[in-house]
This record gives sequence, structure tokens and C-alpha cells, in this order.
Amino acid sequence: MTNRSSPVPPNRKADGDQVVQRYQELRNLQCTGDEFGMSRERVRQIVNRAGISSARVLKPKPEKLERLCKQCGAPVNSGYALYCETHRTPQQKYWRQFQRVKADPERYAHWLEIRRVSAKRCRERKQERGSR
Ligand SMILES: [Zn+2]
Repeated sequence: MTNRSSPVPPNRKADGDQVVQRYQELRNLQCTGDEFGMSRERVRQIVNRAGISSARVLKPKPEKLERLCKQCGAPVNSGYALYCETHRTPQQKYWRQFQRVKADPERYAHWLEIRRVSAKRCRERKQERGSR
């Protein structure tokens, strides 16, 4: 911190108050500095002198929040899962995937086409086996 021998002019204090106020709104040293045409280090000094911590406010981690099943809203006991135990089974997973495909006309048409072709192939194979 630089130690200036000259006394601080009275209007200087108002500036500092404005900087502090703006910093409290923005919560960003660089943005506040840009607005007042000063370095982020200068903003930090002013803010710290006003007794306000310029330490970054960490956002609360989402893992700490109670997880709710995306499908039924029941609490999820696992910290990683998005669905409750009932809606976490492979069948449910497949069902959800299918619902997504069905919601998209293009993908649904593609899915129907694949199913039609594979059903046809299946029939042909059966006929082949039957004719032998
Ligand atoms: Zn559920």
C-alpha cells in the first residue's frame, strides 16, 4: 500500500464511498475499477479500507442442496443421481430416452424407420430359417 504524504482532499472521500457502493453492487474489482477509471488494486484498497472484504464470494455448491428426482420430485439419496431409486432403473432410463426421441419428430421418424427395417430383417431371417 502506498503511503501518501499529501492529505486526502475532501471530495476524495465521496469518490471512495461511490467506489465502495458500486463494488458492493458489482462484487467485482475489475468492473468497478473500469467504471471509475482506476486499477482493480486501487479499488481493493478503497474497499478494504472501508472495512469490506474483497474476497470472492463463493457460490454455494449445488451438491449441498437436497437432490430431488427429476421425474417425481422425491428426495434422491445419492449425491450423484438425478432420479430416485424407482426412476433410476435401466427400464426408466430407456423410457426417458424414448420420450425424448418421441418429442423430436425427426428423431422419432428415424427411430420408426430403424424399427421397421429391423422388424423386416427379423421376419426375413425367420422365413429363411423356416424354408430350410
Ligand atoms: Zn422418482
